[in-house]
Amino acid sequence: MRWDSLGGDGSADAPALFGANAVTRTFDTPEFRGITFHEIRARSIVNRVPGASRMPFEWTVNPYRGCSHACVYCFARNTHRYLDLDAGEDFDSRIVVKVNAPELLRRELGARRWRGDHIAMGTNVDCYQRAEGRYRLMPGILTALRDHANPFSVLTKGTLILRDLELLRSAAAVADVGVSVSVGFTDEELWRTVEPGTPAPQRRLDVVRTLSEHGIPCGVLMAPVIPFLGDSPERLRTTVRAIAAAGATSVTPLALHLRPGAREWYMQWLRTHHPQLVRPYEALYADGAYAPKWYQRRITRQVHELAAEYGIGPSAPGAARALPRPYDTPPPDAEPEPRATQLTLL
Ligand code: SF4
Repeated sequence: MRWDSLGGDGSADAPALFGANAVTRTFDTPEFRGITFHEIRARSIVNRVPGASRMPFEWTVNPYRGCSHACVYCFARNTHRYLDLDAGEDFDSRIVVKVNAPELLRRELGARRWRGDHIAMGTNVDCYQRAEGRYRLMPGILTALRDHANPFSVLTKGTLILRDLELLRSAAAVADVGVSVSVGFTDEELWRTVEPGTPAPQRRLDVVRTLSEHGIPCGVLMAPVIPFLGDSPERLRTTVRAIAAAGATSVTPLALHLRPGAREWYMQWLRTHHPQLVRPYEALYADGAYAPKWYQRRITRQVHELAAEYGIGPSAPGAARALPRPYDTPPPDAEPEPRATQLTLL
């Protein structure tokens, strides 16, 4: 077992993996209605990414598991199964909180063996999901990183990151800090159904704008580009134009991929909302979790052409300090990870 349990008011609702005394809480406020929090004490918090040569980062910190942003396609869904929870509703509504993450991180950053490498956050689940509004783990995490002048990056869909703007600025004064916001499309109707717990795309783009205005360059991970629903030339243009208008320093497109756990949940959603697309999806993803190379290349080319047209990129104003970007999805050519690998990613 990777975690120590907490003493106190443990609940029988907690999966056995958490230990008998893990604290389970619910909050009767509209924001948290229907969500159960499992508070645990992690034994370690800086995790090495297996096969890091294929990733743009080697180390990650993830203070939460599960994500109330509830994106139907979320690739991290399957990781909930290893906790004796399901990859569907449990992933959205049973959130594991590593309540000792800040103190643990400070200790690990101070260890003699730590070399001060870049740490990526938001690479598994969103560290600025709603739970962060209550648990406030990120200020302690950012403070520890700043105090150790440790470079880091954050990827998020959460507007809550603006709460920590001053901390990000003070960290950026002593270390390389990269922030990316994930916006795959700007269509409101699609957003409401496929990313029901997230702030609206336009609000996320406001985050990009605000961070840029305060001296923190911000890129956009345009992910996922959703086949048949978010990938028409008009939709791609609308999205890239909005990203450019927000002052993003870069845009990185990534086509939807459907790994086990996410695939079943997404296809169920598709059957409900767009039944006519079930067959086209089965054909497009017939070979596995990833859309075919030709599709990925087409999306990348279209988005890069639009980015050039709208002036996003190294030559755009404010792009001079572009920093390493994290990904909330692996690169398109990444292989699905075996179970043991995924556990160490969390
Ligand atoms: S895709 Fe990101 S924001 Fe959406 S549920 Fe997954 S971790 Fe949360």
